[in-house]
Amino acid sequence: MNNTNPSEEDVPHHIAGRRFGAANPRQAVYNPALGTVVRHVLLGGPVEADAAVAAARTAFPAWADTPPIRRARVLNKFLELLNRNQDRLAALITQEHGKVFSDAKGEVTRGIEIVEFACAAPQLLKTGYTDQVSTGIDNWTLRQPLGVAVGITPFNFPCMVPCWMFPVALAAGNSFVLKPSERDPSPAILMAELLQEAGLPDGVFNVVQGGKPVVDALLAHPDVQAASFVGSTAVARHIYETGARHGKRVQALGGAKNHMVVMPDADMDQAVDALIGAAYGSAGERCMAISVAVLVGDVGDRIVGKLAARARALRVGNGMSPEMEMGPIVTREAMERIERYIGLGVEEGAELVVDGRGLKVAGHESGFFTGGTLFDRVTPRMKIYTDEIFGPVLCCVRVPDFEAALALVNAHEYGNGVACYTRDGHTAREFSRRIQVGMVGINVPIPVPMAWHGFGGWKRSLFGDMHAYGEEGIRFYTRQKSIMQRWPERTGAGAEFVMPTAK
Ligand code: NAD
Repeated sequence: MNNTNPSEEDVPHHIAGRRFGAANPRQAVYNPALGTVVRHVLLGGPVEADAAVAAARTAFPAWADTPPIRRARVLNKFLELLNRNQDRLAALITQEHGKVFSDAKGEVTRGIEIVEFACAAPQLLKTGYTDQVSTGIDNWTLRQPLGVAVGITPFNFPCMVPCWMFPVALAAGNSFVLKPSERDPSPAILMAELLQEAGLPDGVFNVVQGGKPVVDALLAHPDVQAASFVGSTAVARHIYETGARHGKRVQALGGAKNHMVVMPDADMDQAVDALIGAAYGSAGERCMAISVAVLVGDVGDRIVGKLAARARALRVGNGMSPEMEMGPIVTREAMERIERYIGLGVEEGAELVVDGRGLKVAGHESGFFTGGTLFDRVTPRMKIYTDEIFGPVLCCVRVPDFEAALALVNAHEYGNGVACYTRDGHTAREFSRRIQVGMVGINVPIPVPMAWHGFGGWKRSLFGDMHAYGEEGIRFYTRQKSIMQRWPERTGAGAEFVMPTAK
């Protein structure tokens, strides 16, 4: 069967500027609010990985040679198109992921910010120059693109997380192959079409759909230079090890269990607002969601009742209804896994204060809904504390003092994000300096860094050396070359046999 021109209803691959993949098997993509299939995604394998990498490899030399300011102009045009298509992208996200439309628009905005950052390509790629390192000799540094870079992204931010990667990679002169999540693959294809409309040459940006077979083919491909991954820790580790074994540069961002410490001096109403939004926004399916509230001293007695009332009052339903605060879980399997964890928490002896299991939403009886769930008196040995549940489940752990809070957070295997609510400057400063976590919020529940700062966790939340986007992103997608140059006025000074030093 010819592998080009797949059906308009299917989500295809986008390779060398064309829809691709008619010969592939298909997998259902659901609208989780309705529990119904909205379309199918084509599942690629080594053939599609090869085709995408070949297209990217062919397109690379001309793109790498394009002056950075002209690359930036294409990104500028893309930026304009993203802004114009923000609602369209957000509606696709809500349809396939389930998060509420306003939150989906927020995700697109955070992606747009990385494109804005990448539009400064000429400035970002500027490097150092030293005049006269020795008499008549100058030395300067270039940052050159790597070649073909790949990005493998999770379901929970189908627009923003790809934007952590490809705008920076393209600005630096690389070509790119994106492998989005099979759960919500459509936003990637819309972005590919917008890049094409912006004037990006065919083959510079490609999308391949599928799961492990296509990912493993990309990681083993000799023409791939670098891989960026965001997803769960087990897969992040697999990507890091496999990529490294094949000689790739790899950054692999993994899972999380983010704590928010509430000190007795904090403003309790602010802390409750922060916990409710950060625990239940996007149904807890955010890598920076707060899933553990660390309640210091008497905070537990003062706050759990308020949290319970708010969790019970959450407006849960179809994300396209403007009054909703929380949408469904992405798949039936994910919903069942989350609800199994809630049952496990009860078995482990935690106090189930609000139980979100079995939630039925009127008119959406087949949707994948779990309500906001609250546990109190969770202890560090319980699985609901150690594991990433990735759902709307908030676990309260009570600790006696600040030192115990710090020790608890630092002992956890994950170190993505953390927050501390306090009104004391010394506590805030001590917390920021001593906490073993990559991204810290002081009275900020979800401290996702802005585009020019870079994003990354510590410990088992990140495998690799460099964070995503920002200056770290530019470094990741380029390699340094040092050039030393002399233009002697006359030749024949004779051979030198000692280590050159400044003269
Ligand atoms: P996932 O690990 O299941 O999938 C991520 C990507 O890897 C997808 O594209 C998927 O197709 C692919 N994949 C899955 N299994 C694979 C395998 N065995 N071999 C090769 N590729 C494979 O993650 P998910 O469920 O899509 O996303 C949720 C997870 O992502 C959570 O753990 C969340 O914490 C994490 N996440 C982390 C960050 C961060 O910045 N640290 C950001 C967003 C999401």
